[in-house]
Amino acid sequence: MEKMRAMVLSQCAKIETNPLKLTEIDRHEIKRPNEILLKIEACGVCHSQLHGIEGDWQDIGIPPALPTVPGHEVVGKVVEIGDGVTKFKVGDRAGITPLLEACQKCQYCKEGKEYLCESSIILGESTKGGYTEYVTVTEDFATKVPESMKAEYAAPLFCAGITAYKAVKAADPQTHKKIGIFGIGGVGHMAVQFAKVENCDVIAFSRSQNHLDVAKRLGAIDAMKFLENQEEFLSKLKEKHGTLDAAIVFAPADKVTDTAIKSVKKGGLIVIATVGENPPFMAFEEKTIRGTLIGSTKDMEQVIKICDEKNLEVITQTFPLEDANIALKKLKDSEIDARGVLMP
Ligand SMILES: [Zn+2]
Ligand SMILES: [Zn+2]
Repeated sequence: MEKMRAMVLSQCAKIETNPLKLTEIDRHEIKRPNEILLKIEACGVCHSQLHGIEGDWQDIGIPPALPTVPGHEVVGKVVEIGDGVTKFKVGDRAGITPLLEACQKCQYCKEGKEYLCESSIILGESTKGGYTEYVTVTEDFATKVPESMKAEYAAPLFCAGITAYKAVKAADPQTHKKIGIFGIGGVGHMAVQFAKVENCDVIAFSRSQNHLDVAKRLGAIDAMKFLENQEEFLSKLKEKHGTLDAAIVFAPADKVTDTAIKSVKKGGLIVIATVGENPPFMAFEEKTIRGTLIGSTKDMEQVIKICDEKNLEVITQTFPLEDANIALKKLKDSEIDARGVLMP
């Protein structure tokens, strides 16, 4: 059996204790005719891995089993294909979103919302994850990546990019619609750009001046510091911009969600792309609160197309695979401007 290097998690623990260990594990092999084998070129480091590794999400069943190889935004080269594969040939490049597989038979799958499938398999929640050198996937759940796209650029599109794209779509974007984006990190900086593509007027909110500068540079009409004092924040916002037409929340903090709800006009829309306790809201203001989760294979194709055509920017910082603990620690300490990417 061929081996591959992988960063393996055997027990949930604080990232400071370096819980991911570089280990030789069995290399994945093609087991079904519709599978392709990818040699991984890059895998993004997503904030959700930090929660999973540190055990914050054990009560919602993440990770479902140990040991696990984390990592769910992967780009690589096709090095082998199964007998039944028609979409890819050896030498092509492909990427995988967190959705490694779905049943393709249920109502969600038939409606093109396969990311809601009850029997989906999530990349990085078993030994099949991206913090390694090889991975297999069925061709229907892999998306082509153009030859011209750098691996460290393309990898973050497969979770951060698609999450941002779908959240912006969920906010019903229109020309000059005033959309507030709360949280400008790996996902938020992409959302600013997708909203810009739709000609929205984007106002970015963050605690970090660095992130605010990034948002401005990427086309936000304004970028305002998120203030702990909600009243002060809301009155500053109102003074400068009035109320928002819609808000998108990426920052995983209930207080931010509460503030976002209060920033939006009556009848407005709040898109929540994070996990947390949802704050109370006033029915008579007719606001709509909408959840969002990654996106479909079709959405992923759109993300690649838009990023390729419009040259959207993906801010990354690369690390060798064996430095996964370091990359996650930096993410925890807000020392990464947008997206960390591991290069095996
Ligand atoms: Zn992710
Ligand atoms: Zn299904």
